[in-house]
Amino acid sequence: MSGRVAFVTGGSRGIGRACALALSAAGARVVVAARNREKLEEVAAEIRAGGGEAFAVEIDLSSTDSIKAAFASASKDFGAIGILVNNAGVTRDNLALRMKRIDWDAVLETNLTGAFTCIQQVLQGMMRERWGRIINISSVVGESGNAGQVNYAASKAGLIGLTKSLAQEMASRNVTVNAVTPGFIETDMTNVLTPEVREKVLAGIPLRRFGKAGDVAAAVRFLASEEAGYITGHVLSVNGGMYM
Ligand code: NAP
Repeated sequence: MSGRVAFVTGGSRGIGRACALALSAAGARVVVAARNREKLEEVAAEIRAGGGEAFAVEIDLSSTDSIKAAFASASKDFGAIGILVNNAGVTRDNLALRMKRIDWDAVLETNLTGAFTCIQQVLQGMMRERWGRIINISSVVGESGNAGQVNYAASKAGLIGLTKSLAQEMASRNVTVNAVTPGFIETDMTNVLTPEVREKVLAGIPLRRFGKAGDVAAAVRFLASEEAGYITGHVLSVNGGMYM
């Protein structure tokens, strides 16, 4: 993927940061995008310190205007985007009975509609180039479901349907579209869980450890590579075997 431009949403920390570093190590020029500019600049500096090229851009996935502006600025200053990693995501957990509409909307808007709007910014360029890689970070709970996460699980299952549909639309243009479904990965998102919840989750993981952001990034780097050019519409689980 030498010289290709990769755009990673949620690239400021956790899985997105690991994807940005891994794609850079594989030769991509990387745009990291999220809301917190300070954190983005830290990741961009880390990439540059390792000899890579990076561009930090603020984006708020809950705003179409912000998404349009971020992609316009990144492709103007950094070049046409060949690899899109839709990684940013949020949770607002509650039982369905108690869930507020605002929490349903916020999660669907960021995780699913935000990803769709990002995709719309890159499709024409990828079609023109007759090359593209779109990788959507879904979740094991999009496959298995999870009590207390109807909004999050619906957004992540939605990303799988989007992935398979878009893969069919874009295949003739040599643009592949795949999803990665992480299991329990050690990041800010999971650090908030209680020791009891973590123990319970761990008991259900055959590989007997939580995943690392780098485990997911390795899968993303592969799907973004030239070697993965015959893989599309696939859902790749990175979950230690917790759901098969
Ligand atoms: P994280 O540590 O909470 O990081 C989330 C990232 O998304 C941050 O960079 C955050 O940056 C960005 N973000 C959040 N809301 C945003 C918005 N409205 N606009 C733009 N950027 C936004 O999460 P993570 O654990 O790395 O998860 C990354 C992805 O993997 C998510 O889609 C998550 O659902 C999925 N996943 C995670 C796990 C897990 O166990 N950790 C499991 C399955 C799936 P700012 O706050 O600066 O905007």
